[in-house]
Amino acid sequence: MDHIVSKAALSRRNIIPDVICQLCSHNEENANHILKYFNSSTSLWYAITSWCKLPSITTTNILELLDLPDSWPFQPRKRKLIRAVFLITLWSIWKARNDKSLNDNQKSVRDLWER
Ligand SMILES: [Zn+2]
Repeated sequence: MDHIVSKAALSRRNIIPDVICQLCSHNEENANHILKYFNSSTSLWYAITSWCKLPSITTTNILELLDLPDSWPFQPRKRKLIRAVFLITLWSIWKARNDKSLNDNQKSVRDLWER
């Protein structure tokens, strides 16, 4: 997960000293925080699982999230579709984070959901 250029990853490489998330100003900005545990991310994951009629997501990190469809009793084609939805969701969250960081353009969960 260190491949995602979060503040924590940049700090470990001695590029920046500050690791606090600029979206919530409370937590370390690492990949799991951005993609899963930040408030807007959590709301979006809830909307996605409700929309797809999936069990709630209880994983603790992103890699486990991507493996989760394999543990559900769905046909292989549906598992593949769910994984694709998860990847698109991760990409949307990452783009929204970058838009806020680089352009100071805050996206709401509704904005992300409607894309
Ligand atoms: Zn945050």
